[in-house]
Amino acid sequence: MAASQVIADLRALAALTSDAQGAQRVAWGPVWRDARRWFADLLARDGLRAEVDVAGNNWVTLPGARPETVVIGGHLDSVPNGGWLDGALGVLAGVEALRRHAGRTPPVTLAVVDFADEEGARFSRSLLGSSGASASLVPDTVRDLVDKQGTRLVDALAENGVDLDRMTGARRALEARRPLAYLELHIEQGPVLEAQGRSTGAVIGTYGVERHVLRFVGQAAHSGSTPIAMRRDAFLAAAETALACRDIARRHSTPESGVVCTVGTVKVEPGIVTAVPGVCEISLDQRALEPATLQQALADAREAASRAAAANNVTVEWRHVWRIDPYRFDPRLVALCTEAVQEVTGHAPCLPSGPLHDAVEMARVMPAVMMFAKSTNGLSHCKEEDTPEADLEATIEAFQRLVDKTVATVAAG
Ligand SMILES: [Zn+2]
Repeated sequence: MAASQVIADLRALAALTSDAQGAQRVAWGPVWRDARRWFADLLARDGLRAEVDVAGNNWVTLPGARPETVVIGGHLDSVPNGGWLDGALGVLAGVEALRRHAGRTPPVTLAVVDFADEEGARFSRSLLGSSGASASLVPDTVRDLVDKQGTRLVDALAENGVDLDRMTGARRALEARRPLAYLELHIEQGPVLEAQGRSTGAVIGTYGVERHVLRFVGQAAHSGSTPIAMRRDAFLAAAETALACRDIARRHSTPESGVVCTVGTVKVEPGIVTAVPGVCEISLDQRALEPATLQQALADAREAASRAAAANNVTVEWRHVWRIDPYRFDPRLVALCTEAVQEVTGHAPCLPSGPLHDAVEMARVMPAVMMFAKSTNGLSHCKEEDTPEADLEATIEAFQRLVDKTVATVAAG
């Protein structure tokens, strides 16, 4: 069966590029290059070959009767100590779609793309290759990035034949393909499908993100001599804000679409057991699928932080870190995806994606949709990342159906 070949390919790639801690295919490094060499050999067995664009993305093309192209995407790069499915599942399920059409000319052209540096694990910039291909990349915003060893991004790119200032030229090459639709199969990386007892879901869109750092400033003082009522405790103000943000997320969540917020970092000064914290900085990451909901959750958080600051007699300042709008996938493609999942598995749960994916960059260029496979225990980016084989097979089958339905639809239109 076709799906079992994809799983065998995934296991072979994992065996070649993992150690005891998990997958080590960090973009622009030697193991990632090994993965791409393995990929080239895999393609050669079916008479296919990959070409690299100016953004470092690897393209495999199966020419059809018409030049217009259905694009299937994923990424072979992983985080350090990563899993066997994140990214690679999309690429290898795409190759399977080409194999199924090889030998006969499909009505439109099919292309599989392995995006470079989706994870941003080394230089903290995700979606690098796909943002080159969509031309949303602004080179000056990443020019000065360095990794933990002090290597500059521009030098790591050059080592791989990529010139930062030419990366957005990949958009012209992509447009020359006349892209009609973008399809991506990925693991969910969350617990929702597993909790529903479902193997596969259609993805309706990706959450927007508002990311800030909040700095609370009060007064450091001795922990023994300062009465509670007279303190200006910056940590307590931050803690009250974090709890309020959890309530805000709950209040704005609906059964169809959740709102999430995370305080992921806390920094306290002076950081001494005998001192009332005079300064506290927290990060706040808020996500939602509806733009208006996200903006309301942010406004509510600002109000809650001001209230907590006043209650503790401290000040609060907000520093903007990063934001991205929510994105809704193409309704026609979501409908095809739902149909494909329903036909193969008997159910068609629809869910949003909390993490971002290359599909968001491709959606700037053409209609896009994603399909998710269940993640065991909701885990990813670790060696425990897994999906039961039967669920993986069903999902890969459903994805092949989505490819066929999309090809038929765009060929008819
Ligand atoms: Zn991924």
